[in-house]
Amino acid sequence: MAQSVVPVSTHPSFSELFPEDAELEHLAGDFTWAEGPTYIANRERVVFSDVRENRTWAWTDYGTLEAEEDPSHHQNGHCIDDDGLLIACSHGERSLVRQENNGDWTTVAYHFEGKKLNSPNDVARHPVDGSLWFTDPTYGIDKPEEGYGGEQELPGRWVFRLARDGTLTAPIRDQHKPNGLAFASPDLLLLADTGDPAATFGYRIDADGGAHLEREWFSVQPGKTDGLRVDIEGRIWSSAGDGVHVLTPDGGTELGRIPTPETTANLCFGGPYGTLLYLTATSSLWRIPTRTRGLELTY
Ligand code: MG
Repeated sequence: MAQSVVPVSTHPSFSELFPEDAELEHLAGDFTWAEGPTYIANRERVVFSDVRENRTWAWTDYGTLEAEEDPSHHQNGHCIDDDGLLIACSHGERSLVRQENNGDWTTVAYHFEGKKLNSPNDVARHPVDGSLWFTDPTYGIDKPEEGYGGEQELPGRWVFRLARDGTLTAPIRDQHKPNGLAFASPDLLLLADTGDPAATFGYRIDADGGAHLEREWFSVQPGKTDGLRVDIEGRIWSSAGDGVHVLTPDGGTELGRIPTPETTANLCFGGPYGTLLYLTATSSLWRIPTRTRGLELTY
């Protein structure tokens, strides 16, 4: 599937977000369910998951595909913590895990009030206090192909906050299937819910780690927002059934789309300047150069 695709504008300003003649480039394929891309600057690569094949892979800045974890214990979403270490949501281990500098994995969140987590799905680092916010739907225990099974112990599917001192709280408990999440600013978290109906919501975040629903921010058609990212000007880059949709910071106006032949589950900015957008779209990893940068890479 080596086809190239060009962005589709629905607003005149959209083409300004890409270099002239920018095309979506197919980097690698033959995955089953590609997810969780995150750029690791100090390793010069984007790490991503093939959740259902129980593996993780990397696309390096030098243009090579490299194996990472095998098995990955069905890792899904990733982010980078305050120490520059890779954080992973592990469906199989029902935990949030961190890769140390020597390559070993350490569990950083596993239980809440004496009960096992469901199956952490996606994770984002708070830009000021370094806390890790992660969603905990049940896909990794409900879907045999996405984990090792098990019983749900917690009474809900929540969003957790792991403070730098290790304190775990559950500030968001009012969604059905919380999934992707991204900080638009220190006091605004965008949270995608892949329940029915699916939508993305804005939560105000206090200095003490509380979260308060402000409003529904946007929804995409076709498909759902799974993972999402924010650029340095606050624009929202959302996954969708037909590719990536780019929206104004308030979520109210669609600027354009980057079409993909299969459902896009997640995306991230990366590369040496933070300007390359990587897409995990079902069987394939894609990339397109932009003229903006990922907000989280500037924190
Ligand atoms: Mg997800």
